[in-house]
Formats: sequence, C-alpha cells, structure tokens
Amino acid sequence: MTSDKLALLSGSKTVNKEFPAYNSIGEEERIAVDKVMRSGVLSQFLGCWHADFYGGPKVQEFERTCEKYFKVKHAITVNSWTSGLTAAMGAIDIEPGDEVIVSPWTMCASATAILHWNAIPVFADIEPETFNIDPAAIEKNITPYTKAILAVDIFGHSADMDALMGIAKKHNLKVISDTAQAPGALYKDRYAGTVADIGGYSLNYHKHIHTGEGGILVTENDDLAERMRLIRNHAEAVVGDKGTKKLNNMIGHNFRLGEIECAIGIEQLKKLSDLVSSRQHLAERLSAGLQQLNGLQTPVTKPDCTHVYYIYPLIVDTNALGCERDVIAKALQAEGVNVSTQYQNLHLLPMYQKKMAYGSNGFPWTSEICKREVSYEKGICPVAEDLNEKSYIGFGMCVYELTAADIDLIITAFHKVWDNLDALRSTNIS
Ligand SMILES: *Cc1c(COP(=O)(O)O)cnc(C)c1O
Repeated sequence: MTSDKLALLSGSKTVNKEFPAYNSIGEEERIAVDKVMRSGVLSQFLGCWHADFYGGPKVQEFERTCEKYFKVKHAITVNSWTSGLTAAMGAIDIEPGDEVIVSPWTMCASATAILHWNAIPVFADIEPETFNIDPAAIEKNITPYTKAILAVDIFGHSADMDALMGIAKKHNLKVISDTAQAPGALYKDRYAGTVADIGGYSLNYHKHIHTGEGGILVTENDDLAERMRLIRNHAEAVVGDKGTKKLNNMIGHNFRLGEIECAIGIEQLKKLSDLVSSRQHLAERLSAGLQQLNGLQTPVTKPDCTHVYYIYPLIVDTNALGCERDVIAKALQAEGVNVSTQYQNLHLLPMYQKKMAYGSNGFPWTSEICKREVSYEKGICPVAEDLNEKSYIGFGMCVYELTAADIDLIITAFHKVWDNLDALRSTNIS
C-alpha cells in the first residue's frame, strides 16, 4: 500500500466513488408538509398590531419547540440566518458609525449584517486552535466607538465565550453569537448560541438541519426578543398601535418564515442530536486515523466544549513537511478526497478593499458618521491570512453522507499522500 504511486503522479485513485450528498430530509418532513398543504395556511403573519403579528400555528409551535430544545426564553424564526443577524444587530440599539468587532474567518453575512445598519465592521484576528475570534485581538481593536462583538462559532466549535463576555462586560458591549455552523454544540453545559445576548442558527440547506432556507434567533432578554420580532415584521407599521416607546431601528423588514418551513423545522429539530452525534463519530474516527501523521494538526476541541464538525479543519505544517499545502491538497484531491484550501478572509473582499458598499462614494466609511479610518489592509489579521494562504485544509463533513468505511478510505488517502511526500517534494506541481 505505502509504495502505491500517487494518483496525482498517474497512479491509481484511493477513493473511486462519489460520496452521496448529505440529506437530513425524510418521510417525517414530507408528512408534516403535506398536513400544512392540506390546511391551506402557508403563512399567517400580518404586518400590523394584531394577534397574527407573531405568525401562524407552525411558526408558534416551532418557536416553542426551539425554546425547549435550546433551553432559552425566546426563539424567533426568520427566513434566513442572514436576516436573523440583521435583526439582532438592529435590536441592540446600534447607531450608524458604531463599530462592531467580528472575525474575518466566517461567512460574509456575519459582517454584512453590521453594514446593513451603517455600522462599521472591524476585523479582529482568530486563534489557530479553533479558528474562532481571538479575545486578545478583540481587546486590541476596542475603541470608544465599539458597540458590540459578533462572535462566530465557526466550523462547529464555540468561541471562547467566557473571555468574550468578560471583555463585553468590562467595555459595556453587547455580544451576538453567529452559531450557524454549530447547532447542538456545547459550551460548558449550555448550547452554543445561548450564552451571548443574542444568538442563533441557520436553517439553510447546507447546515446540519435545515428547512431549505431559514434561521432561528435565541435570547433570554424580553426587550431584545420583542425588538427582533418587530424588525422581522414591518416594525414601522406596528409600533404605533402596539404603543412601542423605543423607536430607534424600528425600520422593519419581511424576515418571516413560512408555515411549511416551520413544520419541516419541527421534524428536523427532533433529528438534530442524532445527526450531530453521527458527525462527531465520523470526525473522531477520522482524527484517530490522521493523528499519527507528521506535521498535520487535527481539530482541537477545548475543555468543556463539544465540536459538531460542520467543517472538519486541518492545519498542515508546511515547514516541517517541506511541501506546500496546495501541492498536498492537490494530491489529496487526486486521490478522490475533496478537500478545500480556502476559507474566508472577509477583509480582503472587494467591498472592504474598495470601501464601496452603499452607492459608489464609500458610504458609510467616507461619511461623517464614521469616526475614524478603519483599516482592511492585508496584514491586519495575520493568523487568518496565513491559514488561508499556506496551511489550512478543510473537509466538508456536512456535504456528504459518509459511512465509517468511507472515513477509512479518506484516512488511507491521507496516509498514501504522507507516504509519498518525497515524490511530491520533487515534483514541480503547484
Ligand atoms: C450559513 C451561515 C450564515 C448565513 O446563514 P443563511 O441562513 O444562509 O442566511 C451566516 N454565518 C455563518 C457562519 C454561516 O455558516
């Protein structure tokens, strides 16, 4: 086996099949959808102050089910987690020009939700163990204008919430958790997403559980919950009759999730813990098989945390291996293991590089609401940049439906590549 020629160097391929797509949807969801269809009520929201302001029966049932599951006072459904982040940001009394500290190593919506309120994203670097925002980097980026921290539980592992909540308390900041990738992950006996002032989950079809599109906001705070419900559903048309006193950011949207999606969500939530534990077993098997490989760091799970492995992240020590990450990744891909080498460095997106968001004149950065020059230059997040450029390798655990035998094949492919590093070093593939 070890002398096998790499597929990249015209040997034979280790994985000779396409892994089937991950699919969490089954008969239970089909039956639930059918019941909603027969009821004829596909949505029951009214965008005015009325009993139906809070949505129809499945919206209510799903929200109460989420509250029980995640052990939170309020769960609020939205039509995407991007919408959820936007509602959360508006609810915390954000003012135009306020700064919100966020990780660059996340899906774009985490930062765009800040810009939607004409607030300014400030990118703070990540820690290489969990790929989550580094508390020390947050401290360095706090200014008199900082209003909040947007913590992302990236890849399925909670951010360092004790440290983050401590910093927030010290500087009087709000914390929002983007737990899109970590539903069901634990942080010290609590579900990730429920430790911050506001948190929540994506129900987009790429995630552990889904409703096609959708999202869930969670909070313990009554006022924040009601403000998010208003932003979800045409706040400006509701606040008058409702008698809402606080009118800041009561500019509403239609972020409402439908009855069909909520009926699906109720069934999906029943499956979450099994889906998560099957991902965990596969990931642990993979880690056990890769542990011995030199210069390869398998995913870290911090004490009192669990990892739900939305993505299975690896770091290669290219100096120790004497071989470039991209060459190793190409060799793995040629063996039939579809690894990726890029995640996100949001600060390097054209929108931030050109500082062009609203209109073409640099609003909000060039406006007087922006109180200082915020840098998005390359170099501001060296850890995240270095990982993307040189050392990160990711495998999408929620992309495929994998068996233990599939994991063993993946392990075999990695070992084959590692056994042939000499051959890789002497090729000039790049
Ligand atoms: C998927 C995702 C989102 C956006 O969720 P949608 O429901 O697709 O809008 C935001 N943040 C992170 C980290 C995500 O992975």
